[in-house]
Amino acid sequence: MTATGRHPAFAGLDPPHRWPVLPRSPRPDRLELGLDTLPGVGPALQRKLAKLGLTTVRDVLEHRPRRYETAADEVKIAALRAGEECVIAGRVLKAEKKPMRGRRTRIVARIEDGSDVITVNWFNQPWLADKLTPGTQIRLRGKLGRFGFEPRSYDLGETRATADFAPVYPAAEEIAAASVRRVVDLALPLATNVPDPLPAELRDRERLPLKRDAIAAVHRPRDLAEAERGRARLAFEELLVLQIGIARRVAEREQTLAPGLGEAGDLIRRYREALPFALTPYQEQAIREIDGDLARTTPMQRLLQGDVGSGKTVVALYVLLRAVENGRQGALMAPTETLAEQHFLTIADLCLELGVTCALLTSSSKKAERANALAADVVVGTHALIQTGVELRDLAVAVVDEQHRFGVEQRSAISGSRAPHVLHMTATPIPRTLALTVFGDLAVSEIKKPPASRKPVITSWITEERASEAYTRLTRLLSEGRQAYVVCPLIELSETSLARAAEAEAERLRRAELKEFRVGCVHGRLKTPERRELMARFKASELDVLVATTVIEVGVDVPNATVMIVQEADRFGLAQLHQLRGRVGRGAEQSYCVLVSRAKEELTESAQARLQALVDTSDGFELAEVDLDLRGGGALLGTRQSGISDLRFAHLRRDRALLERAREEAPHIAGGPLRDAADELFAEVDRETLA
Ligand code: ADP
Ligand code: MG
Repeated sequence: MTATGRHPAFAGLDPPHRWPVLPRSPRPDRLELGLDTLPGVGPALQRKLAKLGLTTVRDVLEHRPRRYETAADEVKIAALRAGEECVIAGRVLKAEKKPMRGRRTRIVARIEDGSDVITVNWFNQPWLADKLTPGTQIRLRGKLGRFGFEPRSYDLGETRATADFAPVYPAAEEIAAASVRRVVDLALPLATNVPDPLPAELRDRERLPLKRDAIAAVHRPRDLAEAERGRARLAFEELLVLQIGIARRVAEREQTLAPGLGEAGDLIRRYREALPFALTPYQEQAIREIDGDLARTTPMQRLLQGDVGSGKTVVALYVLLRAVENGRQGALMAPTETLAEQHFLTIADLCLELGVTCALLTSSSKKAERANALAADVVVGTHALIQTGVELRDLAVAVVDEQHRFGVEQRSAISGSRAPHVLHMTATPIPRTLALTVFGDLAVSEIKKPPASRKPVITSWITEERASEAYTRLTRLLSEGRQAYVVCPLIELSETSLARAAEAEAERLRRAELKEFRVGCVHGRLKTPERRELMARFKASELDVLVATTVIEVGVDVPNATVMIVQEADRFGLAQLHQLRGRVGRGAEQSYCVLVSRAKEELTESAQARLQALVDTSDGFELAEVDLDLRGGGALLGTRQSGISDLRFAHLRRDRALLERAREEAPHIAGGPLRDAADELFAEVDRETLA
């Protein structure tokens, strides 16, 4: 904290604009008005705005500009050159409204700045006519076109905001950036109705601007620093709401009891002996940390992270057996049935050897099988299946693989005031900031290195027109006895059409590029026995190539598969591609991953950055950081339940200082609008994630 008692995170944060004195007191209800109440917003525009998620005045006020255009040079009218973006400043000589065909209108104004006079045209902004009275001072940003000056933005009177630091809102199809800007213009005067939910004491202490001032600063800053100060104020409030909700969850967790599992005993000793290898120091360290948690009666919430192939499953089984040796049950939950089966196959033999009953629960399990499965010592199944399995005899430990819905399992498995210990496993590392945010104090164990040193996968990125080269190389490797995956594009279709697309692609490859090879196809629509058989055949090298949807994303383990081709890779997220790539590079042979994308010009900047990052590194941590940067954390790990996807102004990585500040402040906020907001946010999140 600084001498003024203000935290450095807020250094230089001063109220931006001075508002006109309000004729009436604020009316927050006005913020809930539909956008059709704004002059000039008709049904068509309203519909387009709704597609951006903007339906009320509040939505528009909280619509964050993605960036700002930097200032353009101010130029005398006489010195204007066609096509160059610049600012002119002068006064209105006259302005006329001219009707056009249809219901379109044009405003033609004459502007003079002492050096010359110029014509300025505005289309479809009829209300402007009344504002452009002769003598009005005006600043315009735009360029000289064929019929005069073409303004992109303007300021009237003394304000000097729009023309210099015009906000650029997130791009959307069908709706021009200028329209969004105009709607924000219309909504901004209503910002005076925005109440400030921060406790006055906190606001004074940190000398924070009022929320309404921060909103104005974000949309109409005088300079970039002012925009950032406004954003920081709004980000802080968001983080505070999040942290209040999280603090409450943590408190709830501390109220629940999990069975204390004491120290490892005989079963664990036998497990260690049965393993064909010694655990690595990283695995041992993770186990020590886990044992510490299990000895307590506060439910464990620990994240075990380690890249694919680092040896997490061994640790998972260890934890499950810790439950079993205490006469209780363990459950292993996977995101898909394929993965659940893989896990089951991995651990079943070992369990048998140890005299521990282990059962696989699938959606095709018959009623009797289901009852049997639920009585086993270790139950393996999908997340969804086990979640509905309140019938579990005596669940003490749940291991959750790649689900990224921290806390949810525990919350849904809570009966009365009892909850299981939960170990989350992930190959997609979670930056520390996120771990703190997601579950307040989610503990993290990390397996930093795999048991044996493996060769990193060589990754290349090519565009579609060069895809045939990839297949040429693929056939060469296949001829040498290697196996491969071809991953079909991720299309936003139903599981059924996805399956159909995969089948079609497999058929195409069988006839064309991969004529000489045995091609199988797996997707989510296959019946369990069929899928199991296909996977088994691939594993036994009876198939050379597996065409697949993302069902192979995690867990599939075929060391001889050394090539992966991902079609339309630009459609996948970074974390997802990293996961997919983890299916190769599991044996001693050099592996390759080829990302095929559309032409570079067609890709968004972020898609290009994602693909390049994958080529550049195979370090999961680095990739997670890149992903966090690109996405701001929102969708990164499917962290819907954490409330993170609701952040608009906060950026988890950049706002680390604000986040820490919010964590400190949250426990002191006893009630009031912030707490209500937190309750509301988390109630909604729970409704969605527990559903
Ligand atoms: P992850 O689940 O992290 O992707 P796995 O647990 O599937 O990794 O382990 C990858 C492979 O390494 C498996 O074949 C496993 O048997 C093997 N493995 C695990 N731990 C060790 C170890 N300590 N020494 C040697 N091999 C190991
Ligand atoms: Mg695994």
